[in-house]
This record gives sequence, C-alpha cells and structure tokens, in this order.
Amino acid sequence: MTPNTDLNIALFERAQALIPGGVNSPVRAFRAVGGTPRFIRRAQGAWLWDANGQRFIDYIGSWGPMILGHAHPAVLEAVHQAARDGLSFGAPTERELELAEEILGLLPSMEMIRLVSSGTEAAMSAIRLARGATGRSKFIKFEGCYHGHADALLVRAGSGLATLGTATSAGVPPEVLQHTLVLEYNAIEQLEQAFALHGSELACLVIEPIAGNMNLVRASVPFMRRCRELCTQHGALLVFDEVMTGFRVALGGAQSLYAREIPGFKPDLTVLGKVIGGGMPLAAFGGPRAIMENLAPSGAVYQAGTLSGNPVATACGLATLRQIKEPGFFAALAARTRALVEGLEGAAAAEGVALCADSEGGMFGFFLLPELPRNYAQVLRSDGARFNRLFHGLLARGVCIAPALYEAGFVSAAHSADDIAQTVAAAHEVFRELSR
Ligand code: PLP
Repeated sequence: MTPNTDLNIALFERAQALIPGGVNSPVRAFRAVGGTPRFIRRAQGAWLWDANGQRFIDYIGSWGPMILGHAHPAVLEAVHQAARDGLSFGAPTERELELAEEILGLLPSMEMIRLVSSGTEAAMSAIRLARGATGRSKFIKFEGCYHGHADALLVRAGSGLATLGTATSAGVPPEVLQHTLVLEYNAIEQLEQAFALHGSELACLVIEPIAGNMNLVRASVPFMRRCRELCTQHGALLVFDEVMTGFRVALGGAQSLYAREIPGFKPDLTVLGKVIGGGMPLAAFGGPRAIMENLAPSGAVYQAGTLSGNPVATACGLATLRQIKEPGFFAALAARTRALVEGLEGAAAAEGVALCADSEGGMFGFFLLPELPRNYAQVLRSDGARFNRLFHGLLARGVCIAPALYEAGFVSAAHSADDIAQTVAAAHEVFRELSR
C-alpha cells in the first residue's frame, strides 16, 4: 500500500458498508485483478483524477461512451443549456426528433428508432420486438457476447446443441432460459446445425458484430455472411448489438464495415447505447418501419420508460454525434488507436512477451497470447495472473485500462500522441518485468 492509495481505500471501505461489493456495477470492484478501485473525482480529456489527486490516462472511457474524451466543452455547453430548460418532462420533445434524425441519417438499415435509457433495456426490448414481430420464441446468442443483464441473456452454453444453457446468475429460473440457444462465436457449422434444428422457431439471432465483451474478437466475414443468409432463409431477424461498436468503430457502426465486404448487407434490428448518449443514460434500438411499428402504441409489443428520450441525455448525445460527424474524425481516431496497438505490440516484442492486438476505429483489444482468438474458449486461454500484473503495473504508472481481461479498450479523440507514447513507455517497463 502506498500512502497515495489511502483515500481510495477509505472510500472503498465506506462503500462496502453501503452498496453491495462497494460498487454499482460489478466490474468496477477490481475483483478480477485484486486491489482497490480508484474513486474518481473528476475527468478532463483523456485523463482521470482519483480521490488522491493521482492522474491516469484513461482507456476505459466510461466503458465506451466518452469518444470525445471527458468534459468536452461543446457537449458540456449543450448539457448545461438543456438542463436550464428542465430535466425531464415525460412528454415528447423536438430534441428527440433531432437525435432520431441524426442517427437514422447515419445508419441506413434503420427507418425508425425508439430511445431508451440503457443498453440492457435496448437489447431486451429488441428481442421482445423480434419475438412479437415473428410470433416465435427462440433466439440465438453467442458465448462471450454480452447484451446486458436481462434474465434470458444471462446464460452460458450447455454441452452441445441438445442441452440447454445454464444461467450465469443466481435468480434466473431455468424455464426463462429454455428459448435461448447459446452457440460458439465464429462457428459456421454449429450455426448451420442450429438453424437446421430450430430454424422455424427462431425469432432472432443477436450478435455483437465485433465483440467487446470477450476483449475484442471480430466475427469473420464468412461467418457474418452465413448469419445473414440463414436468418433471411428461415425468417429470423438479425439483431446487431452495436451498443459498443455503434459510432465507435466507424461512423456507420460495425454494420458499415460488413456492408463493405458483403454486398447489400444490413441487420434487421440494431441496438445502440454508449456513444449515442455521450456519457448520459441513453440507448436505442431501431430497424425497418414494418418491424418497428409493432411497438406500442402503434403495435402490440409493449415497451415504455419514464426517462426515455430524456431532454438532457438527448442534448448530450446530439452534441456528441455532431462532433464525431466532422470530416476526418474517424480516420484520426483510428490512426491514434492503431498507434497505441502497434506501440504495445512493438514493446512486447522487444521484451519477448507474447502479445497480439487488434483495433477498429477507437476500439482496441490485446491478448497475452501468440495469436488473436476467434471465440470465447480461445480467449479463456489467456493467463489471468499475467494480465493482472500488467494491469497493476500500468495503473501504478498512471495508465488505466479495464480491470478485467475480457474487456475491450477505448481511445478518445482527446488522447494525444504524447498520451499514447507515455502509455507505450509504461507498458514497455511492465513487459520487461513480465519477461523476467
Ligand atoms: N450490449 C453490449 C454490447 C454492451 O457492451 C453492453 C454494456 O457494456 C450492453 C449491451 C448493456 O448496456 P448497459 O450497460 O447500458 O445496460
């Protein structure tokens, strides 16, 4: 314990008496990596300051939303202005329409959108909509993909297609999982088998196209092509969970990247969150009019929310989207992110540490493995103890990455070349320690 960490320790002790595990979302508690979470006092640009006033270069970015960096002046101005006009009305506002128009203009697969307050709510509602629109119950999800914490999504694969998955949380009755099929990511044969067995019962297939919840693993183009083909052939909806990738990997989301490779490609429904709220609670789902009009009050699929389309959150999201639409924004962000990833690879290679890394837009992942994994089982081969040494080595040097090896990382437009260089230099020192 260094004297520097004392205030974080005191706050964490106080927190544990008040809040289960001391945190309001489990990963924040540092359980996977050990040690004391840093309590954040403030943030600016690429940096966070903890309770002791220690500064960190931030690669978590609130788990994705902070693509412009923290406390961006144009975003803060929009939020302040909106707040002065009232915090919540529970009635429609013009700003919701502006945000809807902005998003629909950038994602051509969507003709209509519904705004909600969290990615969990958006994914859960998209699946309900898919079920309501198709009149079917079953759906496919993939091992290692996270779509929020709705009951039917908290499930890991059984021992094969014939056995049901098991809940990853207490409090989820097995009956709730009976319609969830959990498949291996990037496994075309298993996907074909699942459709052969259950095609006519499937409401949808939900997927993170570039998975950010098993570090960073891309769905291969042939796999995605097959997902699209099989969904179309069997009348199931292809649901893209772009809560993480939307407006993060490219202005048109991951779907725009697959559309470059697969002519005419588009998902049926898209789930969004994180960047579209710019750091405020805001998420959404959308798709073609014919599907979306199944939602209440137009249709019979119920969905609602007291704070949905909140005026301050929509102002924050709008201001954020307007910044990232600037010409050259994504090219610069992607170049900076690539510089980080290449720097880490170079530093690891110089110290003989096996590391491979990948990035797309402002999202990156790295593994202490000789080659990039293609599915969750391969991700699990990572050495957790080594990752934890890396994590703490970086933290001690003022660099904050996600406190779990299953999380992707995020670079913002506020990260400077100097921030990246400092990060690579810090990582180089830690790799030297790891190689001993
Ligand atoms: N979907 C994906 C791909 C996510 O990464 C997350 C959260 O990390 C969610 C859904 C759930 O979003 P939220 O935490 O806003 O409920």
